Amino acid sequence: MAGSTALAARQAALSLWRCFRSSHASLGSHGAQGFLAQLPKTAAGSSCRQLATAAGAGTAPPGFAAGAAGAAGDSTDAGGDNAPVVIAGGGPVGITTALLLAKHGVRSVVLERSRTLTEHPQAHLINMRCMEVLRGIGAPDVASQVVQLMPPLEEWRRFVYCTGMSGGEVLGMVDHFKGQSSPHQPAISPEPVAHLAQNRLLPLLVEAAAQQPAIDLRMGHAIHSFTQTAEGVTAVVDASPDGNGGGGNIYRLPSQYLVAADGARGGLRQQLGIGMGGPGSIQHLINIHFFSPQLGAALRDRGAAGMLYFVFNRDVIAVVVAHNLSRGEFVAQIPYFPPLQSGADFTPARCAEIVRQVARRSDLAVEVRTIRPWTMAGRVAHTYRGGRAFLVGDAAHSFPPSGAFGMNTGICDAHNLAWKLAAVLEGRAGPALLDTYTAERKPVGTANMLLSVANFNEALRVPQMLGLDYKAANLLSDVLAAPALSWLPPDVRRSVLETTMSVGKAAASPIRRLRRSELAEVFEHGETLRLQFPKEDLGYLYAAGAVCPGPADAAALAEYQRPKPRDAPYTPTTLVGARLPHVAISVQQPGRLLAAGGGHDVASTVDLAAAAGTSLVLLMSDSPQQVLWEAAATAAEAATGVPVLPVVITQGSAATSSSRGAAASSPHTTVVQDVSNAWLSLRRIAPDGALLVRPDGHIAWRAANSSSLQSLAADLERVVRVVMAKQ
Ligand SMILES: Cc1cc2nc3c(=O)[nH]c(=O)nc-3n(C[C@H](O)[C@H](O)[C@H](O)COP(=O)(O)OP(=O)(O)OC[C@H]3O[C@@H](n4cnc5c(N)ncnc54)[C@H](O)[C@@H]3O)c2cc1C
Repeated sequence: MAGSTALAARQAALSLWRCFRSSHASLGSHGAQGFLAQLPKTAAGSSCRQLATAAGAGTAPPGFAAGAAGAAGDSTDAGGDNAPVVIAGGGPVGITTALLLAKHGVRSVVLERSRTLTEHPQAHLINMRCMEVLRGIGAPDVASQVVQLMPPLEEWRRFVYCTGMSGGEVLGMVDHFKGQSSPHQPAISPEPVAHLAQNRLLPLLVEAAAQQPAIDLRMGHAIHSFTQTAEGVTAVVDASPDGNGGGGNIYRLPSQYLVAADGARGGLRQQLGIGMGGPGSIQHLINIHFFSPQLGAALRDRGAAGMLYFVFNRDVIAVVVAHNLSRGEFVAQIPYFPPLQSGADFTPARCAEIVRQVARRSDLAVEVRTIRPWTMAGRVAHTYRGGRAFLVGDAAHSFPPSGAFGMNTGICDAHNLAWKLAAVLEGRAGPALLDTYTAERKPVGTANMLLSVANFNEALRVPQMLGLDYKAANLLSDVLAAPALSWLPPDVRRSVLETTMSVGKAAASPIRRLRRSELAEVFEHGETLRLQFPKEDLGYLYAAGAVCPGPADAAALAEYQRPKPRDAPYTPTTLVGARLPHVAISVQQPGRLLAAGGGHDVASTVDLAAAAGTSLVLLMSDSPQQVLWEAAATAAEAATGVPVLPVVITQGSAATSSSRGAAASSPHTTVVQDVSNAWLSLRRIAPDGALLVRPDGHIAWRAANSSSLQSLAADLERVVRVVMAKQ
């Protein structure tokens, strides 16, 4: 099936499949005895036929799934035209990795264990940097689709602290967008912070993947194990309907690299022998995903629309995420205490009852969709690389959701890794470039893990003021479960726990009355959990890795990295390693960089690197020295084989644009106009300086000025070699 017909078939399949999509159907876990013994010893042809059989029986989407005979047939033969990258896991991070690789022209196979996409919403807050990454993928781009689908800001700008969502009392509300009428902050990013549930985002990513012939997404295919040599990786894939190799639908899939996007519980990290550090498990929770349009309407009616509800009453303590008030879609997170309590205690009927307690309305109409126990943890992998395999997303790190960094960090991992894999596969970069992935992303993962744990403790401030102490409850649970008390019957230990907990909850009411003024102060001064983290969202930088800081940068870097107060703003910077600050631009001359169009509007400096593929961008101001920089870029490219694409920013105002013409741009140079007159104050380099920007928009090198004009070309060539590991 060729070209457009194949695409049309995949799109039709996707529509059909959406109709069939059902809640959290999964193939289950691996580990059946004799699994490996079933591996076909011959070439993959037999696997293909087996897979085709599985397709007929399965529920996977045609064109994407386990059964897509063409898809399987293309890539199971070790001698065939295999995709260079195999991605384990079709969650948001795995699919984004595939989309970013496809943008660079790299084919990948995405293996997803589950036959259907999960309907359980987890992540919902998408930060600006993540939105900037999503801005660069899909047509229409995924970020603009998110903006269209998300609820109006008025419905999610606040966190609400209350004794009940419908009945009960509102203790306080904190507006996290004070002074903003929109989630956009056009001075710092072309994209807003967004609020859209993960189960709404994932189909957008899958649809974007469906448009990409370079992506072969196989639902219902799990990596069971893998081996690697100096030349490549071979995954052992289980596509059997029972997920345990039953029926013999197992095949080997060779590739050059493996990306483990298999989440916190996927197991590939363990197979690589990579451990994790951090505080570990923090709290066990039950997520109750429920629909109640009645509750959504009640919250709007009482003027208490919000994103998060912290509910404390004598029956229940909960954090509820309002994913969409119009649809009445929520997730309630309830702490529980294994082994004295178990997930099985939370039956649908019990969960509906809990939701009514959370709402403080006994006649509330509730439809419980899914119930999921999970463990909140703070962990970061010791390394993100094991030979030819790379960890991304939750496979590399687990954070408490307080701060909403999990998926956002994972998608930025993918953004960092994709261009590096593409550049190495293309021969534009040396293999050592891939070593910089851990060096750059692990510090970000560690910082976000620590911040998320600190946020979790911050979020406990209000319950603690109400006399509720989660840590004490955890401690009590641990004590009751300890071997020293094993002589107590389990029912008794459980009953002690539950009685003590309910005494604590009941005690909350009078204490609350006593502390009302203190609470008001906490809400007023924003000393509760925050929603926006612009400093951490946009302001992280790579101090070491594929960057080339000069001696003059050290002091400025130390100052930038000095610990700041929790509410310090994001300060745009052109320091080496930082994300190139956003400046609104309009294109005056496409030059080589934008000649092909690229399919995306270019309206921000953020879009320049996104349009560059695996090339580097040399960004400079409009100055007489620009011709020398253009010549240096040409020379560096000729010497290294790495395209260095010059971009000139001109000023927007008539007064300053009179300087144009001081040096006529070569037709290869891209010329953009700074439409908000922001560049002059942001650039922090002399008018004749320049910045070398990587494909992920981070600054690799900055020349404060062109003072050593004699050595300009040699300097640039040296820097390109360092950044691209081409010594
Ligand atoms: C309550 C809650 C709220 C959250 N809120 C936010 C938020 O607001 N913002 C935010 O950024 N983050 C948030 N997070 C975190 C976010 O949900 C995760 O960080 C995100 O899901 C990670 O994506 P991932 O693709 O790395 O992993 P996952 O979403 O876990 O996907 C991994 C995929 O790999 C598949 N898989 C596993 N093993 C294999 C295998 N061997 N072979 C093939 N496939 C395999 C799984 O089936 C799964 O589909 C929240 C988390 C929770 C629990």
